[in-house]
Amino acid sequence: MEVQECIFCKIIKREIPSYIVYEDEKCIAFLDIRPVTKGMVILVPRFHYETFDFDLETSYHCLKKSLELAKGIKDVLNAIDVQIAIIRSPLKHFNIRIYPIYSNEDIPIIQNKPNEISEAELNQIWQKLLAIKVEIKEKEEKIKIENENDEERKFEELKEKWRKRFLP
Ligand SMILES: [Zn+2]
Repeated sequence: MEVQECIFCKIIKREIPSYIVYEDEKCIAFLDIRPVTKGMVILVPRFHYETFDFDLETSYHCLKKSLELAKGIKDVLNAIDVQIAIIRSPLKHFNIRIYPIYSNEDIPIIQNKPNEISEAELNQIWQKLLAIKVEIKEKEEKIKIENENDEERKFEELKEKWRKRFLP
């Protein structure tokens, strides 16, 4: 698909209306208007490219923002979990899909059935998502490792390593 025909690019350029829930200099996220689950969000890089490895740095940024956004979505929509998927789209514009899950029976990526949703309901969800602050706040307090048994301490150390590696 040519860039000028890409719906995501049109959303980015504000050529078609959309429910944007987050944007920064590298990426933009908006509600899917035919969501597989209510509150499904699609996050795309501003620059049109097809595969994640075309621009790894931007793709990493997109994935990181997707996780942060997913945390906010989970909280404000009272979802039990959120599925995040990178699935090829006919638009050939790299994208990350964020599906809130409301019950253990929800398997949106496998079911992949879009649902009709009213504009009023979309608007309602949009208002909720606009309140999300996409930013993981580092906990200031040091992790207490005193008085904990060895297993817990090892787990905390692992978590800390993970944090240092993947978070700013
Ligand atoms: Zn595009």
